[in-house]
Amino acid sequence: MGFVEIKKILSKHQSMDFEKVSFVNPNARGIPAPINESLSGKCETCKKCSTICPTKSIEVLSNKEIQFDYGSCIQCGMCSDICPENILQDTGFVYVFTLIRQDLKINFTSGNFVPVESEIPENVKKFQKLTSKKGMKYREVAAAGNNSVECELNASFNNFFDSEGNQVVSVASPKHADAIVYSGPVSKNMEGPLQTAWDCMPEPKALIANGSEATSGGIYPLGKLPSEPDLFIGGDPPRPDVMISAFRYLMGKWNFSFQNELLKRIKDIRK
Ligand code: SF4
Ligand code: SF4
Repeated sequence: MGFVEIKKILSKHQSMDFEKVSFVNPNARGIPAPINESLSGKCETCKKCSTICPTKSIEVLSNKEIQFDYGSCIQCGMCSDICPENILQDTGFVYVFTLIRQDLKINFTSGNFVPVESEIPENVKKFQKLTSKKGMKYREVAAAGNNSVECELNASFNNFFDSEGNQVVSVASPKHADAIVYSGPVSKNMEGPLQTAWDCMPEPKALIANGSEATSGGIYPLGKLPSEPDLFIGGDPPRPDVMISAFRYLMGKWNFSFQNELLKRIKDIRK
């Protein structure tokens, strides 16, 4: 063994530390939010944000109330770019995932909201008993997406993100998997294969909607799912560290609250 190899073995590892992640992407867009606390008195007649949104993720309910579905938001930034009153801004926040679909929907009243802390569902508690120590094996099902999620999943196994080092392993057969991770809006042709993969898995098991299309259908209608997903990850596609953090959260290895962390981010921007 040469000097270079010995130096490498002794040097500090360079992979990501998932206990110290940043919820904000410094190089790209994240989800939008009303940063100006007093929503414009013109919102009801304007509605430019909701009209331009390709995934219908925004609903202007009144001059003071606006609702976002961050599960379908693809983080394109068109709503904040078009807002004539500079109310909406890109927050850069990309850690968009919850165990309950409804928790990805937020109603802002005069630019504010009260975060919701949902109970951990019983099936997730059983899944955590199985995986919190030994880790998780998953089978991926590409259910009519655009392959971007698969590109990021591939990247999650590189030296930096080190999925396997974080006890998240991909397996070939659903018979050997603890979870199904699916991407895409689940077209008619993919409903059957997704159901088959799900049916041949042993209990306890988890279904993971990976990306905005899997969570909401995106610009397409969402197909029939074999079960209500146990984890919903937003983003089109989510970054590798977002996926691994979401899996760690599902396994009970890491505490996280999407709504609380988003509120902190919004307060930071307002300072
Ligand atoms: S999808 Fe685009 S336009 Fe719609 S809410 Fe998200 S960032 Fe805004
Ligand atoms: S684009 Fe801006 S001003 Fe217009 S409805 Fe949306 S938040 Fe209100």
